[in-house]
Amino acid sequence: QTLFIPKETEASEPRVGGSPETVKKLITLGFDVIVEAGAGVDSRIPDAEFVAAGARIGKTADIKGADVILKVRRPATAELKAYKQGAIVIAMLDPYGNEAAIQAIADAGITAFTMEFMPRITRAQVMDVLSSQANLAGYQAVIDAAAEYDRALPMMMTAAGTVPAAKVFIMGVGVAGLQAIATARRLGGVVTATDVRPAVKEQVASLGAKFLAVEDEEFKAAETAGGYAKEMSKEYQAKQAALVAEHIAKQDIIITTALIPGRPAPRLVTREMYARMRPGSVIIDLAVERGGNVEGAVAGMVTEVDGVRIVGHLNVAGRIAATASQLYAKNLVAFVETLVDKETKSVNINFDDELVKATVLTHGGKVVHPNFANAAA
Ligand code: NAD
Repeated sequence: QTLFIPKETEASEPRVGGSPETVKKLITLGFDVIVEAGAGVDSRIPDAEFVAAGARIGKTADIKGADVILKVRRPATAELKAYKQGAIVIAMLDPYGNEAAIQAIADAGITAFTMEFMPRITRAQVMDVLSSQANLAGYQAVIDAAAEYDRALPMMMTAAGTVPAAKVFIMGVGVAGLQAIATARRLGGVVTATDVRPAVKEQVASLGAKFLAVEDEEFKAAETAGGYAKEMSKEYQAKQAALVAEHIAKQDIIITTALIPGRPAPRLVTREMYARMRPGSVIIDLAVERGGNVEGAVAGMVTEVDGVRIVGHLNVAGRIAATASQLYAKNLVAFVETLVDKETKSVNINFDDELVKATVLTHGGKVVHPNFANAAA
């Protein structure tokens, strides 16, 4: 069987769905691997490294012969006519709000799996793209903040005087927020953090940061069985805003990562709040793609409002593309392995497997995922 790793067609996407390490693994699984020329260039993987790992270098049109296609982003509808009927596509398909594009994938006769839906269970940890990429985004957010901040992060005692440590506030302590705390601490920042899930409190403390939250009855019940945040009541949000407003006035750097599954990102930082920060303060909004946590954050731009720099970079994991691709490719190959019959070395999808059930969006010309059951109508 042929497995194709294309170059991503969106110019804003530097990542790639394969690495020399994963190509070797795919070959042992029985695949004939073709990598599109230049697919890895933006992730610092030259074609020669793919060849050394056993892949052939191909053209865009070679996608036609592919039984399995490993991508980063959803294929554009116009690209689908180049795909073979019955081909398997594995990517981050970002299906919510893109139902028509998913229907087009179904219409093209493609079996498509979306990696973001991988269940967060022990067996699938190695396939968890949300974690692998959010972890890097949290790290990169701090690096970006440090670059935008015109002062030093660590305390320095020099002959010419003492430089105070920067105060860094992390809002939303999921995978990205935890890595942001750890990174800001390594750079010498004095770190505080907030979240609406009580389970986070201990994790924040264990990383050497201070936890700040309105700890009322609603807070104590604010985690879903799946470990995600709930949307909080208006009353809670008001109490939370009052508490953080005072805190924000004294911070130098804020990194926001707060998301609620299936909902727009909660608005946590208003202009009124950051207007009280001193000039040169920096705010990084990692939720900007989902509506933003910060008033005035512009997707894809760095702006300055009231002397505060507001950073709304898109695809933050892609800003550290070489590492992001290395981990993403590993997530993909771990999933591919579960689709291959070890005896016959051929793809044999078990549609009863919970990983398949959770991630398969289209099959046999239809949108098959329960979350999109009505989308086709
Ligand atoms: P996420 O990206 O959905 O959200 C980021 C954070 O924002 C969360 O911690 C959330 O509680 C927080 N948030 C939401 N609304 C907020 C508000 N109003 N104010 C402040 N913070 C707010 O989260 P994630 O990074 O995907 O992690 C979600 C959970 O999944 C965590 O408990 C994480 O540890 C867990 N997880 C488990 C596994 C696994 O078991 N395999 C893997 C990864 C993550």
